[in-house]
Amino acid sequence: MLSNYFSEKFPFAYNYFSNLLSLAKEEKRDFPQALIFEGSDTKNQYLFALELARILNCEKNGETDCDCINCRWIKSHSHPCVNNVSQIHFKGENDETKSVISVKQAAEIEKSLNLSSDYHRFFIFFSSREYTYNEDELGCFRELSYSDDINYSIEPLNYQTFNPATLNALLKSVEEPPKRTTFVFLTKSREDILSTIVSRCQVFKLSGEKNKIDYSDILNLISSYPNITYQNCFDISDAFQKYIKDENFDTLEILNKILEYLKDLLKQNLDNSSIVLKINNDIKIVNDAIKYKKASMQEKIIFDTIFLRIARGY
Ligand SMILES: [Zn+2]
Repeated sequence: MLSNYFSEKFPFAYNYFSNLLSLAKEEKRDFPQALIFEGSDTKNQYLFALELARILNCEKNGETDCDCINCRWIKSHSHPCVNNVSQIHFKGENDETKSVISVKQAAEIEKSLNLSSDYHRFFIFFSSREYTYNEDELGCFRELSYSDDINYSIEPLNYQTFNPATLNALLKSVEEPPKRTTFVFLTKSREDILSTIVSRCQVFKLSGEKNKIDYSDILNLISSYPNITYQNCFDISDAFQKYIKDENFDTLEILNKILEYLKDLLKQNLDNSSIVLKINNDIKIVNDAIKYKKASMQEKIIFDTIFLRIARGY
């Protein structure tokens, strides 16, 4: 299963996918068909994607040192169904483009999906060019027992290399792929990809920042934050309580996610003093809620109080 190598690097994704991979391998749950990885550590995002592909295709239980044929192929970068897609990978014969991921490549992918496959197919999208590494730079590959015979860079996607025309040509494949097909897009930020694709993907922050709390899963619930009023505050409270119940989350974990969200929002608005004042005040409100939770106050009261106080402004 997923190597401990990732448990410190990408703690949230490590836990989430460890669980999901077991269920997917037992065919109790489908694996996502489209993923976006966000963050600055593109090389490790790439390795993470390869590991997902390896574990899903492994003939045994996906241990790091497995030597089944699929694991060996993936570790030597030669698996027929685990595809790199970049300016220099997955180019058809008549494709003259060198600086972009082209519409022809998107068509090529669509064509390949029409053939049936015994494998869980992966298409890993990133920006790349020919590149010679130092010894040190490929230590991460050796650590996970991958071949370090790599002569291409692994860089985040951007609008120049991965433009709207290609993205649009890919939409259908991403939206309705055959079973056991996964697209992975390696990015710095989801904003570097067309929103029509983003909405069809699950986005994960693989930030590499230790101990940073990932709150991407509650963004939908908190999206109305700037406009919380007496009219909607209890609906927002209800939505959070439902989410905690449905996903079996710990209340404190969710409160800490809200706190982290507010702190990041504060950092983005430091030049606006009235917003800073409001967010600082709301951070106090959430910190109060954390105290109430630790004193075992009932969850409904905690969330009603947070959003009522945010609406009221004190
Ligand atoms: Zn294996």
